[in-house]
Amino acid sequence: MSREYLKKATLTSKSDASEVHATVQGILSDIEAGGDAKALEYAAKFDQYDGNTLLTQQEIDAACEQVPDKLKADIQFAHDNVRRFAEMQKSTVADVEMEILPGFVAGQKAIPVDAAGCYAPGGRYSHIASAIMTVTTAKVAGCRHITACSPPRPGVGIAPAIVYAAHICGADKIMAMGGVQGVAAMTYGLFGLPKANILVGPGNQFVAEAKRILFGKVGIDMIAGPTDSLILADHTADAHIVATDLVSQAEHGYNSPVWLVTDQRDLAEKVMDLVPGLIEDLPELNRDNAFAAWRDYAEVIVCADREEMAACSDDYAPEHLTVQAEDLDWWLNRLTCYGSLFLGEETTVSYGDKATGTNHVLPTSGAASYTGGLSVHKYMKIVTWQRATREGSKSVAEATARISRLEGMEGHARAADVRLAKYFPRENFD
Ligand code: NAD
Repeated sequence: MSREYLKKATLTSKSDASEVHATVQGILSDIEAGGDAKALEYAAKFDQYDGNTLLTQQEIDAACEQVPDKLKADIQFAHDNVRRFAEMQKSTVADVEMEILPGFVAGQKAIPVDAAGCYAPGGRYSHIASAIMTVTTAKVAGCRHITACSPPRPGVGIAPAIVYAAHICGADKIMAMGGVQGVAAMTYGLFGLPKANILVGPGNQFVAEAKRILFGKVGIDMIAGPTDSLILADHTADAHIVATDLVSQAEHGYNSPVWLVTDQRDLAEKVMDLVPGLIEDLPELNRDNAFAAWRDYAEVIVCADREEMAACSDDYAPEHLTVQAEDLDWWLNRLTCYGSLFLGEETTVSYGDKATGTNHVLPTSGAASYTGGLSVHKYMKIVTWQRATREGSKSVAEATARISRLEGMEGHARAADVRLAKYFPRENFD
Protein backbone atom coordinates (compact mmCIF):
# COMPACT_ATOMS: atom_id res chain seq x y z
CA MET A 1 0.00 0.00 0.00
CA SER A 2 1.62 3.28 -1.06
CA ARG A 3 0.16 6.57 0.12
CA GLU A 4 2.43 9.55 -0.05
CA TYR A 5 1.21 12.59 1.91
CA LEU A 6 2.26 15.80 0.16
CA LYS A 7 0.21 17.61 2.83
CA LYS A 8 -0.99 16.22 6.16
CA ALA A 9 -3.57 17.62 8.61
CA THR A 10 -2.25 18.93 11.90
CA LEU A 11 -5.70 18.86 13.54
CA THR A 12 -8.74 16.58 13.33
CA SER A 13 -12.39 17.15 14.22
CA LYS A 14 -11.78 15.07 17.35
CA SER A 15 -9.22 17.59 18.67
CA ASP A 16 -11.60 19.62 20.90
CA ALA A 17 -14.30 16.96 21.40
CA SER A 18 -14.20 16.60 25.21
CA GLU A 19 -14.42 20.35 25.83
CA VAL A 20 -17.43 20.63 23.50
CA HIS A 21 -19.11 17.67 25.22
CA ALA A 22 -18.84 19.30 28.66
CA THR A 23 -20.18 22.64 27.39
CA VAL A 24 -23.14 21.08 25.60
CA GLN A 25 -24.02 18.72 28.46
CA GLY A 26 -24.09 21.72 30.82
CA ILE A 27 -26.41 23.75 28.57
CA LEU A 28 -28.77 20.81 28.02
CA SER A 29 -29.05 20.09 31.75
CA ASP A 30 -29.70 23.77 32.48
CA ILE A 31 -32.46 23.98 29.87
CA GLU A 32 -34.07 20.69 30.88
CA ALA A 33 -34.35 22.06 34.41
CA GLY A 34 -35.04 25.71 33.57
CA GLY A 35 -37.35 25.40 30.52
CA ASP A 36 -38.27 28.34 28.27
CA ALA A 37 -36.61 30.98 30.47
CA LYS A 38 -33.24 29.21 30.45
CA ALA A 39 -33.38 28.65 26.68
CA LEU A 40 -34.02 32.37 26.20
CA GLU A 41 -31.09 33.17 28.47
CA TYR A 42 -28.77 31.11 26.26
CA ALA A 43 -30.23 32.71 23.12
CA ALA A 44 -29.34 36.11 24.56
CA LYS A 45 -25.89 34.92 25.56
CA PHE A 46 -24.82 33.18 22.32
CA ASP A 47 -26.82 35.07 19.69
CA GLN A 48 -27.50 38.43 21.42
CA TYR A 49 -31.17 37.95 20.63
CA ASP A 50 -34.14 38.89 22.78
CA GLY A 51 -36.85 39.08 20.10
CA ASN A 52 -39.81 36.79 19.51
CA THR A 53 -38.90 33.09 19.51
CA LEU A 54 -41.81 31.44 17.70
CA LEU A 55 -42.54 33.53 14.62
CA THR A 56 -46.11 34.76 14.20
CA GLN A 57 -47.85 34.53 10.79
CA GLN A 58 -47.41 38.30 10.50
CA GLU A 59 -43.66 38.00 11.05
CA ILE A 60 -43.44 35.16 8.54
CA ASP A 61 -45.33 37.21 5.92
CA ALA A 62 -43.13 40.25 6.57
CA ALA A 63 -39.95 38.16 6.17
CA CYS A 64 -41.25 36.60 2.94
CA GLU A 65 -41.93 40.06 1.51
CA GLN A 66 -38.28 40.97 1.96
CA VAL A 67 -37.08 38.13 -0.30
CA PRO A 68 -36.41 39.26 -3.90
CA ASP A 69 -38.51 37.53 -6.58
CA LYS A 70 -35.52 35.96 -8.32
CA LEU A 71 -34.36 34.36 -5.08
CA LYS A 72 -37.91 33.14 -4.41
CA ALA A 73 -37.88 31.46 -7.83
CA ASP A 74 -34.51 29.84 -7.11
CA ILE A 75 -35.71 28.55 -3.72
CA GLN A 76 -38.84 27.18 -5.40
CA PHE A 77 -36.64 25.50 -8.06
CA ALA A 78 -34.48 23.82 -5.40
CA HIS A 79 -37.54 22.87 -3.33
CA ASP A 80 -39.20 21.25 -6.37
CA ASN A 81 -36.10 19.15 -7.07
CA VAL A 82 -35.70 18.06 -3.43
CA ARG A 83 -39.42 17.23 -3.23
CA ARG A 84 -39.41 15.17 -6.43
CA PHE A 85 -36.30 13.27 -5.36
CA ALA A 86 -37.82 12.61 -1.91
CA GLU A 87 -41.06 11.41 -3.51
CA MET A 88 -39.05 8.97 -5.63
CA GLN A 89 -37.33 7.72 -2.45
CA LYS A 90 -40.68 7.34 -0.69
CA SER A 91 -42.01 5.23 -3.55
CA THR A 92 -39.36 2.62 -2.70
CA VAL A 93 -40.87 2.07 0.76
CA ALA A 94 -43.77 -0.35 0.42
CA ASP A 95 -46.17 -1.75 3.00
CA VAL A 96 -45.76 -5.50 2.44
CA GLU A 97 -47.03 -8.76 3.95
CA MET A 98 -46.47 -12.49 3.48
CA GLU A 99 -47.99 -15.74 4.65
CA ILE A 100 -44.97 -16.89 6.58
CA LEU A 101 -46.71 -20.19 7.46
CA PRO A 102 -50.11 -21.47 6.37
CA GLY A 103 -52.57 -19.37 8.39
CA PHE A 104 -49.91 -17.05 9.78
CA VAL A 105 -49.39 -13.65 8.13
CA ALA A 106 -46.57 -11.21 8.93
CA GLY A 107 -46.17 -7.75 7.50
CA GLN A 108 -44.22 -4.53 7.48
CA LYS A 109 -45.49 -0.96 7.46
CA ALA A 110 -43.69 2.36 7.10
CA ILE A 111 -45.14 4.96 9.45
CA PRO A 112 -43.87 8.57 9.47
CA VAL A 113 -42.85 9.98 12.84
CA ASP A 114 -45.33 12.52 14.13
CA ALA A 115 -43.15 15.53 14.95
CA ALA A 116 -39.93 16.53 13.19
CA GLY A 117 -37.53 19.21 14.43
CA CYS A 118 -35.53 20.60 11.50
CA TYR A 119 -32.36 22.57 12.23
CA ALA A 120 -31.03 24.98 9.59
CA PRO A 121 -27.64 26.38 10.63
CA GLY A 122 -27.13 30.10 10.56
CA GLY A 123 -24.01 30.98 12.50
CA ARG A 124 -21.52 31.75 9.74
CA TYR A 125 -23.74 31.56 6.67
CA SER A 126 -27.50 31.62 6.12
CA HIS A 127 -28.08 27.99 5.24
CA ILE A 128 -31.24 28.47 3.17
CA ALA A 129 -30.62 25.13 1.51
CA SER A 130 -30.62 23.28 4.86
CA ALA A 131 -34.16 24.53 5.51
CA ILE A 132 -35.19 23.26 2.08
CA MET A 133 -33.50 19.87 2.55
CA THR A 134 -34.87 19.12 6.01
CA VAL A 135 -38.39 20.56 5.88
CA THR A 136 -39.26 19.34 2.37
CA THR A 137 -38.16 15.80 3.18
CA ALA A 138 -40.15 15.74 6.44
CA LYS A 139 -43.22 16.96 4.55
CA VAL A 140 -42.91 14.29 1.84
CA ALA A 141 -42.40 11.62 4.51
CA GLY A 142 -45.76 12.66 6.01
CA CYS A 143 -44.80 14.13 9.42
CA ARG A 144 -47.80 15.94 10.96
CA HIS A 145 -45.84 18.56 12.91
CA ILE A 146 -42.76 20.15 11.41
CA THR A 147 -40.77 22.77 13.31
CA ALA A 148 -38.01 24.66 11.52
CA CYS A 149 -35.39 26.19 13.77
CA SER A 150 -32.49 28.48 12.91
CA PRO A 151 -30.26 30.91 14.81
CA PRO A 152 -31.36 34.53 14.86
CA ARG A 153 -28.81 37.09 13.74
CA PRO A 154 -27.95 39.39 16.64
CA GLY A 155 -30.82 41.75 17.29
CA VAL A 156 -32.53 40.99 13.96
CA GLY A 157 -33.87 37.44 13.80
CA ILE A 158 -33.66 34.63 11.27
CA ALA A 159 -32.53 35.54 7.76
CA PRO A 160 -35.72 36.25 5.72
CA ALA A 161 -34.76 33.79 2.98
CA ILE A 162 -34.53 30.95 5.56
CA VAL A 163 -37.99 31.90 6.85
CA TYR A 164 -39.31 31.95 3.27
CA ALA A 165 -37.74 28.57 2.45
CA ALA A 166 -39.03 26.92 5.65
CA HIS A 167 -42.48 28.37 5.02
CA ILE A 168 -42.93 27.27 1.40
CA CYS A 169 -41.41 23.85 2.10
CA GLY A 170 -44.08 23.15 4.71
CA ALA A 171 -42.91 24.11 8.23
CA ASP A 172 -45.80 24.44 10.70
CA LYS A 173 -43.73 26.48 13.17
CA ILE A 174 -40.61 28.54 12.67
CA MET A 175 -38.40 29.18 15.68
CA ALA A 176 -35.69 31.80 15.97
CA MET A 177 -33.28 29.92 18.19
CA GLY A 178 -29.90 28.45 17.37
CA GLY A 179 -27.35 25.98 18.64
CA VAL A 180 -27.90 23.74 21.65
CA GLN A 181 -30.81 25.83 22.94
CA GLY A 182 -32.70 25.43 19.63
CA VAL A 183 -32.18 21.69 19.55
CA ALA A 184 -33.15 21.41 23.24
CA ALA A 185 -36.32 23.48 22.74
CA MET A 186 -37.55 21.10 20.01
CA THR A 187 -36.64 17.99 22.03
CA TYR A 188 -38.18 19.12 25.32
CA GLY A 189 -41.23 20.74 23.66
CA LEU A 190 -40.53 24.25 24.92
CA PHE A 191 -42.50 27.33 23.81
CA GLY A 192 -45.61 25.19 23.28
CA LEU A 193 -44.00 23.10 20.53
CA PRO A 194 -44.83 19.41 20.23
CA LYS A 195 -41.89 17.33 21.53
CA ALA A 196 -39.90 16.29 18.48
CA ASN A 197 -39.73 12.58 17.69
CA ILE A 198 -36.75 13.20 15.44
CA LEU A 199 -34.15 15.95 15.14
CA VAL A 200 -32.64 16.48 11.71
CA GLY A 201 -30.24 18.87 10.09
CA PRO A 202 -26.59 19.83 10.11
CA GLY A 203 -24.88 22.23 12.48
CA ASN A 204 -21.59 23.09 14.08
CA GLN A 205 -19.88 20.92 16.70
CA PHE A 206 -22.24 22.20 19.45
CA VAL A 207 -25.35 21.23 17.49
CA ALA A 208 -23.88 17.86 16.49
CA GLU A 209 -22.88 17.09 20.09
CA ALA A 210 -26.32 18.10 21.41
CA LYS A 211 -27.96 15.68 18.96
CA ARG A 212 -25.52 12.94 19.97
CA ILE A 213 -26.29 13.40 23.69
CA LEU A 214 -30.06 13.67 23.16
CA PHE A 215 -30.24 10.57 20.95
CA GLY A 216 -32.43 8.04 22.73
CA LYS A 217 -34.73 10.69 24.16
CA VAL A 218 -35.32 11.70 20.58
CA GLY A 219 -34.39 10.15 17.22
CA ILE A 220 -31.74 11.81 15.10
CA ASP A 221 -30.92 11.63 11.41
CA MET A 222 -27.18 11.29 12.04
CA ILE A 223 -24.29 13.27 13.42
CA ALA A 224 -23.86 15.89 10.69
CA GLY A 225 -21.02 18.03 11.96
CA PRO A 226 -18.36 20.05 10.15
CA THR A 227 -18.48 19.38 6.43
CA ASP A 228 -15.77 17.28 4.82
CA SER A 229 -15.00 16.60 1.16
CA LEU A 230 -12.68 14.39 -0.84
CA ILE A 231 -11.75 14.63 -4.51
CA LEU A 232 -10.42 11.69 -6.49
CA ALA A 233 -8.55 12.95 -9.56
CA ASP A 234 -6.63 11.18 -12.31
CA HIS A 235 -4.67 12.40 -15.36
CA THR A 236 -7.88 13.68 -17.02
CA ALA A 237 -8.64 16.14 -14.19
CA ASP A 238 -8.38 19.91 -14.65
CA ALA A 239 -6.15 21.25 -11.85
CA HIS A 240 -7.94 24.61 -11.75
CA ILE A 241 -11.36 22.98 -11.33
CA VAL A 242 -10.03 20.57 -8.69
CA ALA A 243 -8.48 23.46 -6.74
CA THR A 244 -11.66 25.56 -7.04
CA ASP A 245 -13.79 22.67 -5.80
CA LEU A 246 -11.49 22.07 -2.81
CA VAL A 247 -11.67 25.73 -1.84
CA SER A 248 -15.45 25.78 -2.31
CA GLN A 249 -15.78 23.21 0.46
CA ALA A 250 -13.02 24.55 2.72
CA GLU A 251 -15.02 27.79 3.06
CA HIS A 252 -17.65 25.95 5.14
CA GLY A 253 -15.69 26.50 8.31
CA TYR A 254 -12.25 26.66 9.92
CA ASN A 255 -12.52 22.94 10.74
CA SER A 256 -13.89 21.64 7.42
CA PRO A 257 -11.40 19.14 6.01
CA VAL A 258 -10.82 18.84 2.27
CA TRP A 259 -8.76 15.98 0.86
CA LEU A 260 -7.26 15.39 -2.58
CA VAL A 261 -6.39 11.83 -3.54
CA THR A 262 -4.69 11.29 -6.89
CA ASP A 263 -2.28 9.05 -8.77
CA GLN A 264 -0.73 12.13 -10.45
CA ARG A 265 2.02 13.85 -8.46
CA ASP A 266 2.16 16.69 -11.04
CA LEU A 267 -1.54 17.38 -10.65
CA ALA A 268 -1.29 17.34 -6.86
CA GLU A 269 1.55 19.87 -6.90
CA LYS A 270 -0.28 22.13 -9.35
CA VAL A 271 -3.43 22.07 -7.20
CA MET A 272 -1.41 22.89 -4.08
CA ASP A 273 0.10 25.87 -5.93
CA LEU A 274 -3.31 27.13 -7.03
CA VAL A 275 -5.29 26.81 -3.77
CA PRO A 276 -3.73 29.70 -1.76
CA GLY A 277 -4.45 32.21 -4.55
CA LEU A 278 -8.05 31.04 -4.88
CA ILE A 279 -8.53 31.37 -1.12
CA GLU A 280 -6.96 34.82 -1.13
CA ASP A 281 -9.52 35.90 -3.71
CA LEU A 282 -12.56 35.09 -1.52
CA PRO A 283 -14.52 37.62 0.57
CA GLU A 284 -13.12 38.06 4.08
CA LEU A 285 -15.20 35.60 6.16
CA ASN A 286 -14.97 32.88 3.53
CA ARG A 287 -11.24 33.52 3.16
CA ASP A 288 -10.61 33.14 6.88
CA ASN A 289 -12.58 29.89 7.06
CA ALA A 290 -10.98 28.40 3.97
CA PHE A 291 -7.49 29.52 4.97
CA ALA A 292 -7.69 27.86 8.39
CA ALA A 293 -9.36 24.73 7.02
CA TRP A 294 -6.68 24.37 4.32
CA ARG A 295 -3.83 25.06 6.74
CA ASP A 296 -4.93 22.77 9.58
CA TYR A 297 -7.20 20.09 8.16
CA ALA A 298 -6.46 19.59 4.44
CA GLU A 299 -4.56 16.60 3.09
CA VAL A 300 -3.09 15.81 -0.33
CA ILE A 301 -2.28 12.17 -0.98
CA VAL A 302 -0.56 10.53 -3.95
CA CYS A 303 -1.42 6.86 -4.54
CA ALA A 304 0.02 4.30 -6.92
CA ASP A 305 -3.11 3.59 -8.96
CA ARG A 306 -6.89 3.94 -9.01
CA GLU A 307 -7.52 0.83 -6.89
CA GLU A 308 -5.30 2.33 -4.19
CA MET A 309 -7.10 5.69 -4.56
CA ALA A 310 -10.49 4.01 -4.09
CA ALA A 311 -9.28 2.12 -1.01
CA CYS A 312 -7.90 5.35 0.45
CA SER A 313 -11.21 7.16 -0.18
CA ASP A 314 -13.21 4.37 1.46
CA ASP A 315 -10.95 4.64 4.53
CA TYR A 316 -11.79 8.35 4.83
CA ALA A 317 -15.53 7.70 4.23
CA PRO A 318 -16.03 11.34 3.21
CA GLU A 319 -19.28 13.22 3.42
CA HIS A 320 -18.90 14.54 -0.14
CA LEU A 321 -16.95 12.51 -2.67
CA THR A 322 -16.10 13.86 -6.12
CA VAL A 323 -14.55 11.83 -8.92
CA GLN A 324 -12.79 13.74 -11.68
CA ALA A 325 -11.40 10.79 -13.58
CA GLU A 326 -12.07 8.59 -16.59
CA ASP A 327 -14.35 5.53 -16.50
CA LEU A 328 -16.95 6.91 -14.07
CA ASP A 329 -18.87 3.62 -14.07
CA TRP A 330 -15.82 1.84 -12.62
CA TRP A 331 -15.74 4.35 -9.74
CA LEU A 332 -19.50 4.14 -9.15
CA ASN A 333 -19.22 0.36 -8.85
CA ARG A 334 -16.05 0.34 -6.76
CA LEU A 335 -16.58 3.06 -4.14
CA THR A 336 -18.51 2.06 -1.01
CA CYS A 337 -18.15 4.76 1.67
CA TYR A 338 -19.49 8.27 1.04
CA GLY A 339 -22.46 10.45 1.93
CA SER A 340 -23.04 11.71 -1.60
CA LEU A 341 -21.07 10.96 -4.77
CA PHE A 342 -20.44 13.49 -7.55
CA LEU A 343 -19.30 11.78 -10.72
CA GLY A 344 -17.41 13.80 -13.32
CA GLU A 345 -16.37 17.40 -13.75
CA GLU A 346 -19.80 18.34 -15.09
CA THR A 347 -21.31 18.19 -11.62
CA THR A 348 -19.96 19.48 -8.32
CA VAL A 349 -20.71 19.40 -4.60
CA SER A 350 -22.17 22.92 -4.75
CA TYR A 351 -24.93 21.66 -7.06
CA GLY A 352 -25.94 18.97 -4.60
CA ASP A 353 -25.52 21.35 -1.66
CA LYS A 354 -28.02 23.79 -3.10
CA ALA A 355 -30.33 22.60 -5.82
CA THR A 356 -29.99 19.18 -7.46
CA GLY A 357 -32.54 17.41 -5.29
CA THR A 358 -30.24 14.93 -3.53
CA ASN A 359 -30.10 15.81 0.16
CA HIS A 360 -27.18 17.85 1.49
CA VAL A 361 -27.58 16.72 5.10
CA LEU A 362 -24.90 14.07 5.08
CA PRO A 363 -22.76 12.03 7.47
CA THR A 364 -19.43 13.60 8.43
CA SER A 365 -16.30 12.54 10.34
CA GLY A 366 -16.28 9.03 8.86
CA ALA A 367 -19.93 8.25 9.66
CA ALA A 368 -20.42 7.44 5.97
CA SER A 369 -18.84 4.08 6.79
CA TYR A 370 -22.15 3.10 8.43
CA THR A 371 -24.88 5.46 7.21
CA GLY A 372 -26.09 7.49 4.28
CA GLY A 373 -27.52 10.99 4.45
CA LEU A 374 -30.92 12.43 5.21
CA SER A 375 -33.78 10.93 3.23
CA VAL A 376 -37.49 10.35 3.69
CA HIS A 377 -36.55 6.97 5.17
CA LYS A 378 -35.00 8.66 8.21
CA TYR A 379 -38.43 10.06 9.14
CA MET A 380 -40.15 6.72 8.70
CA LYS A 381 -40.46 3.92 11.21
CA ILE A 382 -40.37 0.51 9.57
CA VAL A 383 -42.62 -1.50 11.89
CA THR A 384 -43.88 -5.05 11.71
CA TRP A 385 -47.21 -6.77 12.50
CA GLN A 386 -48.62 -10.28 12.56
CA ARG A 387 -51.92 -12.15 12.82
CA ALA A 388 -52.91 -15.80 12.62
CA THR A 389 -55.71 -18.30 12.51
CA ARG A 390 -55.90 -20.75 15.41
CA GLU A 391 -54.72 -23.58 13.18
CA GLY A 392 -51.93 -21.37 11.79
CA SER A 393 -50.63 -20.59 15.28
CA LYS A 394 -50.27 -24.23 16.37
CA SER A 395 -46.73 -25.03 15.15
CA VAL A 396 -45.51 -21.61 16.27
CA ALA A 397 -46.95 -22.13 19.77
CA GLU A 398 -45.30 -25.54 20.13
CA ALA A 399 -41.88 -24.24 18.98
CA THR A 400 -42.21 -21.12 21.14
CA ALA A 401 -42.98 -23.14 24.28
CA ARG A 402 -39.98 -25.42 23.76
CA ILE A 403 -37.53 -22.61 22.94
CA SER A 404 -38.79 -20.55 25.91
CA ARG A 405 -38.32 -23.46 28.37
CA LEU A 406 -34.81 -24.08 27.12
CA GLU A 407 -34.09 -20.39 27.75
CA GLY A 408 -35.59 -20.66 31.21
CA MET A 409 -38.42 -18.27 30.32
CA GLU A 410 -41.37 -20.11 31.81
CA GLY A 411 -43.75 -17.13 31.50
CA HIS A 412 -43.16 -16.98 27.76
CA ALA A 413 -43.77 -20.72 27.45
CA ARG A 414 -47.07 -20.47 29.31
CA ALA A 415 -48.31 -17.73 26.92
CA ALA A 416 -48.03 -20.41 24.21
CA ASP A 417 -49.36 -23.25 26.40
CA VAL A 418 -52.52 -21.38 27.32
CA ARG A 419 -53.43 -21.01 23.66
CA LEU A 420 -52.66 -24.60 22.76
CA ALA A 421 -54.86 -25.73 25.66
CA LYS A 422 -57.69 -23.44 24.57
CA TYR A 423 -57.62 -24.09 20.81
CA PHE A 424 -56.67 -27.78 20.85
CA PRO A 425 -58.11 -29.15 24.13
CA ARG A 426 -58.05 -32.78 23.03
CA GLU A 427 -54.35 -32.86 22.04
CA ASN A 428 -51.23 -33.49 24.12
CA PHE A 429 -48.19 -31.25 23.64
CA ASP A 430 -44.67 -31.94 24.98
P1 NAD B 1 -24.87 26.74 13.59
O1 NAD B 1 -26.27 27.22 13.36
O2 NAD B 1 -24.63 25.29 13.53
O3 NAD B 1 -24.37 27.24 15.02
C1 NAD B 1 -24.64 28.51 15.49
C2 NAD B 1 -24.97 28.39 16.97
O4 NAD B 1 -23.84 27.88 17.67
C3 NAD B 1 -25.33 29.68 17.63
O5 NAD B 1 -26.72 29.89 17.54
C4 NAD B 1 -24.87 29.48 19.06
O6 NAD B 1 -25.98 29.19 19.86
C5 NAD B 1 -23.99 28.26 19.02
N1 NAD B 1 -22.67 28.56 19.59
C6 NAD B 1 -21.71 29.34 19.06
N2 NAD B 1 -20.66 29.39 19.90
C7 NAD B 1 -20.96 28.65 20.98
C8 NAD B 1 -20.28 28.29 22.18
N3 NAD B 1 -19.05 28.73 22.43
N4 NAD B 1 -20.88 27.48 23.06
C9 NAD B 1 -22.14 26.99 22.81
N5 NAD B 1 -22.83 27.30 21.70
C10 NAD B 1 -22.25 28.11 20.80
O7 NAD B 1 -23.99 27.53 12.51
P2 NAD B 1 -22.46 27.47 12.17
O8 NAD B 1 -21.64 27.72 13.38
O9 NAD B 1 -22.29 28.35 11.01
O10 NAD B 1 -22.17 25.98 11.72
C11 NAD B 1 -22.77 25.39 10.61
C12 NAD B 1 -22.10 24.05 10.41
O11 NAD B 1 -22.91 23.21 9.63
C13 NAD B 1 -20.74 24.11 9.72
O12 NAD B 1 -19.82 23.38 10.49
C14 NAD B 1 -21.00 23.44 8.39
O13 NAD B 1 -19.87 22.77 7.91
C15 NAD B 1 -22.09 22.48 8.77
N6 NAD B 1 -22.89 22.00 7.67
C16 NAD B 1 -22.95 20.64 7.54
C17 NAD B 1 -23.73 20.08 6.56
C18 NAD B 1 -23.83 18.57 6.51
O14 NAD B 1 -24.71 18.05 5.86
N7 NAD B 1 -22.98 17.85 7.20
C19 NAD B 1 -24.48 20.90 5.71
C20 NAD B 1 -24.41 22.31 5.88
C21 NAD B 1 -23.62 22.84 6.89
